[in-house]
Amino acid sequence: MTAGSRPAEPAHPSGLLVVAEVRWAGLATVAFLAGLAARALGGPVVLAWVLFSICYLSGGWEPALSGVRALQRKILDVDLLMVVAALVAAAIGQQLDGALLIVIFATSGALEAVATQRTRDSVRSLLSLAPEQATRLGADDREEVVDAALLAVGDLVLVRPGERVGVDGLVVEGTSEVDQATITGEPLPVTKDIGAEVFAGTLNGTGVLRVRVLRATLTRSWVGPVRASTVGPDRVVIPKLFVERVEQRYSVAMIACTLALFLVPLAFGATLQATLLRAMTFMIVASPCAVVLATMPPLLSAIANAGRHGVLVKSAVVMERMAQTTTICFDKTGTLTEGTPRVAEVRLVGGDGMDEPTLLSLAAGAERPSEHPLARAIVAAAAEAGLVVPPAQAFLAIPGRGVEALVMGRSVQVSRPAVLGACAVGEMVAALESSGHTAVVVTVDGKAAGVLGLTDRLREGAGDSVAALAALTGRVPVLLTGDNARAARLLAAATGISDVRAALLPEDKMAAVHELQGDGAIVTVIGDGVNDAPALAAADIGVAMGRSGSDLAMSSADAVIIRDDLATLPALIGLSAHAKRVVVQNLVFAVTAITVLVAIDLLGKLPLPIGVAGHEGSTVIVGLNGLRLLSARAWRRAAGI
Ligand code: ADP
Ligand code: MG
Repeated sequence: MTAGSRPAEPAHPSGLLVVAEVRWAGLATVAFLAGLAARALGGPVVLAWVLFSICYLSGGWEPALSGVRALQRKILDVDLLMVVAALVAAAIGQQLDGALLIVIFATSGALEAVATQRTRDSVRSLLSLAPEQATRLGADDREEVVDAALLAVGDLVLVRPGERVGVDGLVVEGTSEVDQATITGEPLPVTKDIGAEVFAGTLNGTGVLRVRVLRATLTRSWVGPVRASTVGPDRVVIPKLFVERVEQRYSVAMIACTLALFLVPLAFGATLQATLLRAMTFMIVASPCAVVLATMPPLLSAIANAGRHGVLVKSAVVMERMAQTTTICFDKTGTLTEGTPRVAEVRLVGGDGMDEPTLLSLAAGAERPSEHPLARAIVAAAAEAGLVVPPAQAFLAIPGRGVEALVMGRSVQVSRPAVLGACAVGEMVAALESSGHTAVVVTVDGKAAGVLGLTDRLREGAGDSVAALAALTGRVPVLLTGDNARAARLLAAATGISDVRAALLPEDKMAAVHELQGDGAIVTVIGDGVNDAPALAAADIGVAMGRSGSDLAMSSADAVIIRDDLATLPALIGLSAHAKRVVVQNLVFAVTAITVLVAIDLLGKLPLPIGVAGHEGSTVIVGLNGLRLLSARAWRRAAGI
């Protein structure tokens, strides 16, 4: 994929008929219509009877089965009630009404299944965009990024800080803490050094590891950066929404009322047939089918739609909450900027016989194991200058500060000026920073040897996205960066951001998020780096950049912008707001329909067919209303295009 390419459509969009629920609902409908025709045309009674029975079976077996299973776990399923109601209707001679109930009911189930299927399709196609990769080390330490599936036993791979371990293997060099929660469920990271075994799918901390591949990758399950979290193509895990939590109690209360409505009049001598009919009508119209269907299809459809446009939202709750954001916090390097900085200036402190090429190659040597965009820039600058990048030993990354390592027997640090006090090099740093550079100081054997000035470009359209987000949330976004204040201000001004919090360490970014939350803000953080992970986790909603982002950032986030397109962020918030409006519309409509029908049934007389049509009709309308969020138009509207 290249930047600016068209949003990918799902690789294999499934047709409607692929969804089993749609096929069964279709069969039920056809059988119902045929039965209706047979009756209307005066065909044999047996024929209509057989056709209606087919309708009952095809539309009702699945909800009946899952309802009984739920009952075994002491959960009362509304679907089961509907099947019971249809059977009772048939038993008291209202076969047609029961069949209608089954048909519409199966249709609304199919609508929900379609929304879920679309979500899976889009998640699957997003995941297939990002095959798992690993950095293979060749002879003389040459790095090569390869598909993890192509690695062979015995290959040597490099695992950078914050990267997901791509293979099962043995550590042959380096020390790091590795988060194995995806495999063992153990929440605390485990320290790994030489001789320790690491597993594919676990998450590296701040150290660098060289790992010898132990097992062919084909024999293990693929665990990608996002699949390991809450969303996978086969399971969209959705924390219980409010509606689902009240559904149980409501259903039990409703059954109690139905029984009372049946037994009390009977005790006073009412006829069985009429009383049963009335109680059944009550149960049908009071069932919360439409309420249950009000929430999930719109949110799932919105997730599917976002997925088609390159945004992976990990759960329905995240989609629901997104629109409540009041403050957006941007990271700078790699998020607001392209994250491909260049070394623009090399300044020598002088003395010690140090020259520019030596300075640059020492710095590049120390930076090579790092995943940081600045590190990549320094290594690239050395390579461009035709320098040999020497190997590093005892590498240590300090997120938000810099790196240190032994290079050619010398102790080299490359880090932000503040760490060093910056007295000797203060003027060089100030000059570079005032002209918009990110300055890093190279220290060799404890002495500042030089300063590198790096520049990065703003992402295209960053200013427009910032303006759109400001309009949506009512507050201009905040910039949280580990870089220096001078350069950060210059860059922020170009996007319209004035609230700049600079020189933040990872824990400071998190503290800034907590502070905003303390003032009542609902905070969405968007970032890419290992240094952003604590802030992403602390935020109400964390969004990670998918291409430039580190695996650690992606697994800490609630949503991932797969192709790093910032314009999708305002669209996502717009879509979430739209989904919420649809949910509210649906709930109001569903509750009104139930109230009106119940009132008519209790106070006057509601014929069963009208009850069924009213109840199930409102359910289907609610379901269809939710599916509107699947349309390309919904996205365009949210994105303002
Ligand atoms: P941001 O918050 O803008 O994404 P970081 O927190 O990752 O930036 O980095 C903050 C500062 O720390 C950088 O501007 C740089 O001065 C220093 N730094 C971090 N990592 C490195 C590194 N690998 N090499 C050199 N300097 C680094
Ligand atoms: Mg960053």
